[in-house]
Amino acid sequence: MKTEIVPVGTEILLGNIVDTDSSFLANQLSMLGIDLYFISTVGDNRERLVDTLTRAWERADLIIVTGGLGPTQDDITREAIGQLVGEELRVDEDLWQELQGLFRHHPGKIPQSNMRQTAIIPSAQAIPNRMGTAPGWWVEKDNHIIVALPGPPDEMKLMWQEGVQPKLEQRVTGEVILSRTIKTFRLAEARVEELVTPLLKLSNPTLATYIHPDGVYLRITAKAREREEAQRLISRSEERIRKILSPHIWGVDDDTLDSVVGELLKAKNLSLATMESCSEGLLCSTIAGGRDSRRYFKGGLLACCDEAKIACGVGVSMIEAYGGESTEVSKAMAETARTKLQADIGIGLGGNMNPDANSGDAFTGLSSDRFEQSFTHVLRGNHARMKQRSVCAALFDLRKILLEEV
Ligand code: ATP
Ligand code: MG
Repeated sequence: MKTEIVPVGTEILLGNIVDTDSSFLANQLSMLGIDLYFISTVGDNRERLVDTLTRAWERADLIIVTGGLGPTQDDITREAIGQLVGEELRVDEDLWQELQGLFRHHPGKIPQSNMRQTAIIPSAQAIPNRMGTAPGWWVEKDNHIIVALPGPPDEMKLMWQEGVQPKLEQRVTGEVILSRTIKTFRLAEARVEELVTPLLKLSNPTLATYIHPDGVYLRITAKAREREEAQRLISRSEERIRKILSPHIWGVDDDTLDSVVGELLKAKNLSLATMESCSEGLLCSTIAGGRDSRRYFKGGLLACCDEAKIACGVGVSMIEAYGGESTEVSKAMAETARTKLQADIGIGLGGNMNPDANSGDAFTGLSSDRFEQSFTHVLRGNHARMKQRSVCAALFDLRKILLEEV
């Protein structure tokens, strides 16, 4: 099935927003084994949109339009599709009832502009929108399918998952492409590649490595006629990778270091507190930003100088003996956080960063009433990158301790 995505929006052409809808859809199509040939972005202009759709109609079987389904005058996707297939828009009684339901708590009449969203053409079926007022369209005509989805990414994704993907899956007779990402930390990309060399040479599944701030990712991609077969190929490859890289693997797919740590803390019913210096609060804000972090995160202390560390409770003698930024002081910071904020585990993060030389060291300290541990990481890059890496390193070390010691 040849496919074309048509993102609609002058904002995209002006560079005001990034077209994340297309990258999401492109990824989804490849997982379904559907060939995407073109992405043709067009502004909020009816004539140009109809032109773009006409060209897409000539060279694609499936056209996915995103954006321009809202109630305002510049939202012209419905009318343009109607013009393309030569059909009149009429208010649909069911959609009208639904809209009245959505507006029942609003004072006054339903705005005329919103009524436009309930108009549909005979070849279209509405795709329900649980997050907004604009329904999507599934149009079938003359061996073509046109799918229209709203622009806001959350609405678009949910409607894709619930209303479009299952329908397309049914029709796809070709191959299914599935992928899985394995996330590692502490190993350089070249070293990871060296360790998995035999797997990198395979053609199905393929394996590729990518560098991210939170480590090196390995992406396995498998093709097969059936989903189960693709899944089996991926599982076999993942098993081999896990055997080779096990101590360095911290997550898969959508996992983040803070989500992985958060899940472990919840599972073990433990609370956490932080104290940091060189990372300037990033460790605390990363952990606090996690979903239901209030269930396991007590809070964090930030000490930008040695006096502040001492004021928080780190011993003067420790700082004099080891220096303010050291593994020993990071352990003392961890203990200070744990005791002051009454948590089960404390994590201290200090370090020396020299942005002029693009290098530094980070020191993670960990403390509970049963153990005390420290780790050192070598940092490279500009200040922002070193800060981010020091936080990733601290979370990676915490994960290790949670798995091994607690
Ligand atoms: P609305 O009812 O919100 O107007 P719509 O379907 O008419 O929805 P647009 O008006 O085209 O969609 O876009 C609304 C917002 O959705 C944009 O301001 C932007 O934030 C987001 N958006 C639109 N298209 C894209 C895209 N291709 N990628 C990412 N975000 C997008
Ligand atoms: Mg709009």
